[in-house]
Formats: sequence, C-alpha cells, structure tokens
Amino acid sequence: TQARRKLVAGNWKMNGDMAALAELDAIAAAAALHPHVDVAICPPFTLIAPAAARTALPIGAQDCHARASGAHTGCVSAAMLVEAGARLAIVGHSERRADQHESDAEVRAKAEAVMAAGMIAILCVGETEAERDAGRAEDVVAAQLAGSVPPGAKADALVIAYEPVWAIGTGRTPTPGDVAAMHAGIRTRLRALLGPEADGVRILYGGSVKPANAAELLGLPDVDGALVGGASLKAADFVPIIAAA
Ligand code: PEP
Repeated sequence: TQARRKLVAGNWKMNGDMAALAELDAIAAAAALHPHVDVAICPPFTLIAPAAARTALPIGAQDCHARASGAHTGCVSAAMLVEAGARLAIVGHSERRADQHESDAEVRAKAEAVMAAGMIAILCVGETEAERDAGRAEDVVAAQLAGSVPPGAKADALVIAYEPVWAIGTGRTPTPGDVAAMHAGIRTRLRALLGPEADGVRILYGGSVKPANAAELLGLPDVDGALVGGASLKAADFVPIIAAA
C-alpha cells in the first residue's frame, strides 16, 4: 500500500459568517504545527473567497454543480469555485442526497466536474439507520460507490468519506470494529472500480467525530482521516482532532 497522508476536513454546513473566520485563523495556526496532516475547511459558498484570501489552509466547497454554466438558478460551477479560491469540494453529502434528492449518477457527475477543474472531490457515502439495522450497510455503500465514483479517478483527486447517516450530528458513532470493517470493504470496492489507484485514495470517517473519540477512530486501519461537522466550527474542538491524526 502507498503511504496515505491523513486528511482532517471540516464541513461548516450552513454555519459561519465573516466573524467566524477568526476560528479559521486559529485552525490554520494549529495546522501549521502538524505538517504531516492535511487540514481543510469547507465553509458556506459566501465565505470561500474571503477565507481563501486570508489563509494558506486549503478551502473547499460543500457542493458543486456538474455543469460549467447555464440556467441553473442558485447553483455554482467548479470553475467558479476555483476562481473563488476553492481547492476541494464535498459532493454527495447525505444531507444533499436527502434534501436535494441527489442521485448517485448526479453525484458522479459532480465529482467529475470537481476533478476536471483541478480540485479534490470528497465524495460521501453512508447508510441510514434502517439500512444498517436491516444488515444492508455494506451493500448500500457498495452501490453508492459503484454509482458515484468516476471511472478512472486518480488517487490525488478523490477522497471518499464514509459517513453513516445515523451518526451525523447525533453524538453516536459505529463501533471501531464496524468502522474498520466498512473502510476495508470500501477499499476492496475501490480496487474493483479503480484498480491499484485505489490504494492511494484516502477514506475518511465522518459522523460525530470529536476530541474524545478522534484518536481511536483515526487510529483504525484504512481510516485516513476525518470529515468533521459540528466539531469543526470552533478551533477549540477541531484542533485536538487534528492533533489526534
Ligand atoms: C458531516 O455532516 O459531515 C458530519 C460529519 O457531521 P458531524 O461531525 O456534526 O456529525
């Protein structure tokens, strides 16, 4: 296996204003003390340009339209994100799969647009609680990967985030054994889809990562980092997670 640098990425969701960029400064200062870890923050669209202008920390978007331009009211293209200073973009977050009814095919098209623009795509997959209870978690994630990972994706442009829907914002997490099993399963699926390139793709865990559980989760095999929601808003919560990586 190739060495994979850990990535700790924050997803601010629909939170944050100009004043919140002070947290970004604190996060950037702490990240500089941990040069072996990649750190990124994905603020709302409105903060991408001001965030990118004030920090060397990679700034990302939380979504990206698949098309380059056109009649898509309210949407933002990959080139627009790049111009604003974004270097990565989350695609297929479960909140968008649910709220905006995004399909695997749409998520794949978005990931392709992100990569074609020279950004890193953080592609999210994960099962619902009902799917896990029904014993279908691995099958659901496998189907999401088959439907949404772009063929020919390169390891330096693709990151997978495994985020069980029932663990997001709930304070609940899967057992370490369940996380390790899912990440190993994802690696196997990626090898089938991408060949040897899959060994360089980072697989993040996401869902209620916090300072108290970060070291355990980030120490699991095939867990190459974390996608962090709530605990990425404040440097006091996010910095210990970076340190744990
Ligand atoms: C997320 O939505 O990407 C996430 C991981 O959220 P939280 O950390 O708040 O559970």
